[in-house]
Amino acid sequence: MAEKIVKTDEEWRRMLTPEQYEVARGKGTERPFTGKYWDCHEAGVYLCVCCGNELFSSDAKYDSGCGWPSFYTPREADRIAAAVDRSHGMIRTEVTCARCGAHLGHVFEDGPQPTGLRYCMNSASLDFVKKD
Ligand code: FE
Repeated sequence: MAEKIVKTDEEWRRMLTPEQYEVARGKGTERPFTGKYWDCHEAGVYLCVCCGNELFSSDAKYDSGCGWPSFYTPREADRIAAAVDRSHGMIRTEVTCARCGAHLGHVFEDGPQPTGLRYCMNSASLDFVKKD
């Protein structure tokens, strides 16, 4: 894993759109079925919108029906970090970018095999690069 990327709040704000900033740096959540990627079926790689870390492959994306882009595994385990999130009266597992700390979404245990996991991500925290 490459070294961590640390920027000030003001630097992130300048780089990102207001929605990207609110979700990725402010732990927000986009409304379901509104993001750029929940219904994207193209082959490629999903990067962290903040730092370009290659987080997820389209090979692991599936239609969860939840309205957010969903994956059953990250590209490599150490590209993301997970932590308990007790906000909003729920106990969930928050997923962040291991390199820059961007909020990506949450992971739930109702995904398909082989992992049984659903990485429920915000489109606003991701950038998509199509495979040639
Ligand atoms: Fe990142």
